[in-house]
Amino acid sequence: MAKIPYTKPSIGDLEIKYANDAVTTGWGDKCYGYLKRFEDDFCRHLGVRHAIATSSCTGALHLGLAALGIGAEDEVIIADANWIASAAPIVHLGAKPVFVDILPDSWCIDPKEVEKAINKRTKLILAVHLYGNLCAMDELIALGDAHGIPVVEDAAEAIGSVYKGRKAGSIGKFGTFSFHGTKTITTGEGGMFVTNDTALHQKVLTLSNHGRSATQTKQFWPDTLGYKFKMSNVQAAIGVAQLERVDELVARKRAIFYRYRDLLKECEQISLNAEPAHVQIGAWMPTAVFSRESGVTREALQAAFALAGIDARVFFYPLSTMPFLDNSNGCPIAADIASRAINLPSYHDMTESEQVQVVDVLKSLLGNLK
Ligand SMILES: *Cc1c(COP(=O)(O)O)cnc(C)c1O
Repeated sequence: MAKIPYTKPSIGDLEIKYANDAVTTGWGDKCYGYLKRFEDDFCRHLGVRHAIATSSCTGALHLGLAALGIGAEDEVIIADANWIASAAPIVHLGAKPVFVDILPDSWCIDPKEVEKAINKRTKLILAVHLYGNLCAMDELIALGDAHGIPVVEDAAEAIGSVYKGRKAGSIGKFGTFSFHGTKTITTGEGGMFVTNDTALHQKVLTLSNHGRSATQTKQFWPDTLGYKFKMSNVQAAIGVAQLERVDELVARKRAIFYRYRDLLKECEQISLNAEPAHVQIGAWMPTAVFSRESGVTREALQAAFALAGIDARVFFYPLSTMPFLDNSNGCPIAADIASRAINLPSYHDMTESEQVQVVDVLKSLLGNLK
């Protein structure tokens, strides 16, 4: 039986056409053509003023944090349930990620825990919209405003997610996106930095291009020490095509999520991503959390899916348990949920029968496979 992958991009004639054009003609004075178009289209899609295409989301985050002056002695508050990519730039800049616990329903950062963690050194709150679920942005921004701390959104997993009518990534001081091959929109590797803050945009633009300011007329003259986190025009061409299809790509993700929800509606022991009335989730990663009473563990889930030839993935291990990071803060909810959860496959061309196969594995663990 063919294996079921957990994600797989949808690449069609449009992506091939634009990539072909970029690789054939997108050089010399046209070497930024698709890049400019991708950034402009992304601004329009998200409803923000500025966008900068980057080599990755990690790079976009690194640039934004550096532009805000995050460095030694500073603390950045971030949820414990996250992929290392969101925390690594904080550490590389010499600052300290302070891990706090998550809300049991959204699996995103708990504003009450953020409030407890704020002190004189706190310079930023990093809101990561986990698996396309949404952080409690109003509460986080109210806290940030009260303490003069910016809230930044890592929206790598949240294209298509909407919070009270506002698209994820467009709400905080800046937002970042990923176009890694596993994400809803892909350029293979790639990312985007977005902001409505013109001064911050200028700073990031300079940092992203080896510290060369856009107004500098002197050749080979860096104005400051920067980074090289730029996207290529060929990648941007694929991004332009993907973005033309964003509604279709997100709608399919959401349809897969809703189908899972429907197939599992009788299973009270399993909860999926929360979608309260004030949000719409982009459903990047449908995730099943088993109840504590079910006794079903991450290890049992991994074994059952491996046996069925289905590539399901574990819920992120708490960052505070990584030996090379600060682990003074225990976050019981992040650890508990990760111990009984699994990411379900969801890709554009997934079939009904493949979804049923995935659900059958979940049901078999509950012993109620009919
Ligand atoms: C995928 C992901 C990243 C990393 O994206 P890259 O483009 O691979 O750097 C960062 N943050 C989150 C939340 C992600 O899901």
